[in-house]
Amino acid sequence: MNSRLFDSKLPLSGISVFARMTELANRYSAVNLAQGFPDFSPPVQLFDYLNEGVQKGFNQYAPMPGLLQLREEISNRLKNTYQHDSDPETEITVTAGATQAIYTIVSSIIRHGDKAILFEPAYDSYAPSIIANGGIPVYLRLNEPSFDIPWDELEATLAKEKIKLIIINNPHNPCGTILSKDNVNRLYTMAEQYNCILIWDEVYDLLVYDNNTHHSGLEHELMLKRGIVVYSMGKTLHNTGWKIGYVIANSYITSEIRKLHQFTVFSVNTPAQYASAMFLKNHFDFFKKLSEFYQTKRDFFVKNLTKCGLEILPASGSYFILARYNFDKSISDESFAQRLAQYCQVACIPISAFYHDRYDSRIVRFCFAKKEETLQIACERLNNSIDKIQISK
Ligand code: PMP
Ligand code: GLN
Repeated sequence: MNSRLFDSKLPLSGISVFARMTELANRYSAVNLAQGFPDFSPPVQLFDYLNEGVQKGFNQYAPMPGLLQLREEISNRLKNTYQHDSDPETEITVTAGATQAIYTIVSSIIRHGDKAILFEPAYDSYAPSIIANGGIPVYLRLNEPSFDIPWDELEATLAKEKIKLIIINNPHNPCGTILSKDNVNRLYTMAEQYNCILIWDEVYDLLVYDNNTHHSGLEHELMLKRGIVVYSMGKTLHNTGWKIGYVIANSYITSEIRKLHQFTVFSVNTPAQYASAMFLKNHFDFFKKLSEFYQTKRDFFVKNLTKCGLEILPASGSYFILARYNFDKSISDESFAQRLAQYCQVACIPISAFYHDRYDSRIVRFCFAKKEETLQIACERLNNSIDKIQISK
């Protein structure tokens, strides 16, 4: 018997698009350019540090906010990169990835009926985090084709509705766009005027291309008043499976986040924290080369997609790139992605999955965090067999 003892908190959520598309990739032996993860190894020094951590006895619960040496190294890295001073004791919390960080932050702020602005396409965990906590997402669509912020609509929404929280993703997944310094300042000015908190999801902060600069939410003078910034080690150390993230916020917000953090995960994998701390301490140069490393992959992918007929949109950050198909508008992006996996053996993400109303502008997302040979195979398959998508109709 399958009686329902309670109503779903997330009645509109199914299995995540990343899991669905990875399953499809496996089913059709497709190259998985769908879910965002590298297919190459993390730096080997990390493995040595992990082993060292285990041997040295870092095997029991870590302190609830994170290993102090990791928080100190994070503080150093933020000082080094953004000239931001953060107190490891009171302003940095290590989480089980950025996903848990975002959920816990939202959960500590949002109460029943509170409204939070999301810009769509939006990373898939934002809306469910708000809804599960009784909040109401207010969706604003980014302008196409630039995917920049619809400033007038934002201003009008803030003036009309009481908004508690705005979630910003920069560099942006799935669009690959980045915000200018002026954009960051403008968001803070609006947040100050309308008394909102800003969550900056900056998990791709070190993946910015073409000599652009990442403008962090950390760099503004209002950061310690109303900013919360989230990072993920997985994106920079090529180890998404280690699930280590961290949150920077003022001491009041941090203490509120930690109250929930301690009752959800309590603390994060200790040897992995030790290894991350040692890597940050001894291999800081690794991070300085990341942009170049990924830019080469982006350029390789774009250069080799010579005759597949996809319109590749510009990507200045993150490890994703968008592609629009113009040859048959009657195929939905979901169906296009399914056919691409089945007939071309390349998996991607339909970006309607990042809109609450499944808005479909015939665009799909590819992840280029892959070995050159993987990208090469994907490009060959796309170039040679994309017409099968139409024949298969
Ligand atoms: N935010 C964005 C924009 C992401 O793309 C991801 C996933 N890569 C996350 C948050 C979650 O990061 P993590 O894997 O550390 O939970
Ligand atoms: N962030 C990754 C992406 O955008 C996926 C993470 C996940 O599978 N939950 O593809």
